[in-house]
Amino acid sequence: MRQPSDRRSDSEPGPAWFARLRVGPALALVRRSHPRGAAAGIAITLIQGLLPVLLLYTTRRVVDAVASAGMAVSRDAAFRQALIWIGAAAGCVLLSAVAGLAGALAREITGQAVTDSVLEAIHEKAMAMDYAFFEDPHAKDILHRAQSQAPYRPAGVVQSLGQIAQNAISLIGVGVLLLAFHWGLTVLLIAAAAPSLWIRFRHSERVFAWQRKQTAAERRSMYLSWLLTTDLHAKEVRAFGLGPYLGRQFSAIRSELRKERSRMAVDRSIAEAKAQVVSLVPLVGVLALIGYQAVGGALSVGAMVMFYQAFMRGQAGVHDLADGIARLYDDNLFLTSLDELMALEPAPRPAPGGAGATFAQALTLDGVGFRYPDSQRKVLTDIRLTIRPGEKVALVGHNGCGKTTLVKLLLRLYDPTEGEIRWDGVDSQHLDPDSVRRLVGVVFQDYGCYNTTASENIAYGDVRAEANRERIERAARLSGADAFLSSLPHGYDSMLGKWFDDGEQISIGQWQKVALARALMREAPIVLLDEPTSAMDPYAERAFFRRLLASASDRTIILISHRLATVKMVDRIVFMENGRITESGSHEELVRRDGGYARMFVALGESDA
Ligand code: ADP
Repeated sequence: MRQPSDRRSDSEPGPAWFARLRVGPALALVRRSHPRGAAAGIAITLIQGLLPVLLLYTTRRVVDAVASAGMAVSRDAAFRQALIWIGAAAGCVLLSAVAGLAGALAREITGQAVTDSVLEAIHEKAMAMDYAFFEDPHAKDILHRAQSQAPYRPAGVVQSLGQIAQNAISLIGVGVLLLAFHWGLTVLLIAAAAPSLWIRFRHSERVFAWQRKQTAAERRSMYLSWLLTTDLHAKEVRAFGLGPYLGRQFSAIRSELRKERSRMAVDRSIAEAKAQVVSLVPLVGVLALIGYQAVGGALSVGAMVMFYQAFMRGQAGVHDLADGIARLYDDNLFLTSLDELMALEPAPRPAPGGAGATFAQALTLDGVGFRYPDSQRKVLTDIRLTIRPGEKVALVGHNGCGKTTLVKLLLRLYDPTEGEIRWDGVDSQHLDPDSVRRLVGVVFQDYGCYNTTASENIAYGDVRAEANRERIERAARLSGADAFLSSLPHGYDSMLGKWFDDGEQISIGQWQKVALARALMREAPIVLLDEPTSAMDPYAERAFFRRLLASASDRTIILISHRLATVKMVDRIVFMENGRITESGSHEELVRRDGGYARMFVALGESDA
């Protein structure tokens, strides 16, 4: 996996604040997710921004009309004039209310669309990533930062953008009005808001850097929370009385995080209070100036009211604009993480148009060696192995000798760091990974238990045949799952697991049979089984292998197992020690050789099983 930006040290200062206030990407995100909502939002925002300015103007006309009515020849005519402006002002207020509601609605609908489209983009990216991504803590930090804020941040981005646009438009209008009085007013207006804006930026910058640094701690606390609240570990947590212990660890981490967050919030409040005091100076000056001009008769009463209100409105507008910008700036932690996630590229893949894998002659491992990313330890060394179609091969060895790693390489979840894996002579690195995976039906040691219907659980092996009940049942018969699935209240349509209503909890051995059925559903030329019967009783295990061998004489079987009775059934046993193949042959040959394989089974007391 290539990680262009995430290797940046977390303590390294980010780019300057103005570079990170990326209105452009935020707007693009909204436009991509809901173009019509974005267009409606812009139109409504424009109206919302202009209405306060219109209201100021109509208010001035109302006051002036009323003030001059006393001197007018016809009081009725003057009153009618005032009424027209009162009507216009009322219209502005009404329109403002309607536009406010319409704007809130547009933002809410657009916000929901942006949220869903961000979640979909995160899912798509996660699906496109290699398996290595999920074993890399640094990549998980990036995913966490984007994912944990994805449910609410996108809506926040929409709100912030709306707030910025609306206040910017109002401010331009108010600024133009104030210019009519004195250009200095506009400058003072901005000067009054500057300290608060600067403080918000500084705070956001600090929170941004801190949150990046704290992602691992935050993720650890989420992990503890997950341990305490999900069913996966509920049994062990109770059996070992782990709840209070894990709960204390959670509280300790959260309390540290909270302390730092509170410290930052207090610092910010103190600085903001100082900024408010500082911003009072230009405010007082401006008000005094307007009052002085009015008393001197240079301004009509209406104009004085308008300038006073315009300045107050401008003050509120600058504050709200600063608030919107600061919010968008806060959203940047999320937007940056989203960008970082989207910029991650899967590990080297074959060039576009890479060939599809075939398995008509041989699967060859030629001098294969492997180190996990970020690890110095060589897990596999010089693996040489050729498997031909129809062969039944068992990989045997002590825990940690590299069998599962070999399975990951065969499925191209990782590429070898040395040597080649060739499918019909073609190096797998030149092959489309999906085409390799289509050749294999696999059961992993940690197989999935999906909380879906039994038939879906099996159909996941080949979703294109989801509706083919005949194939699903055939796979289940072969794995031994058919008997108990048929007897469930809704047969294959029964919900499995306890996540959803009417779910049937089946035993671990039964789950394993369902996983086996899923692998067999694929009807692939290779069946790759990593400890496929570890949870089954010996009868079920033996019966399964007999059925499998009888029904799949043309299929290749690669089996990892510690059960001698099963291993003895295959053509060839490959024995691994410390990441190397040390012995290879039939069971009888390896027992005669009296090497590691024989010792392993003698030690197990199963030599003549
Ligand atoms: P086996 O299946 O034979 O029990 P594995 O292939 O799972 O063994 O593991 C072989 C070695 O690789 C072990 O020492 C294990 O610690 C190491 N290993 C497995 N997965 C990873 C990983 N994601 N990162 C680093 N090392 C790993």
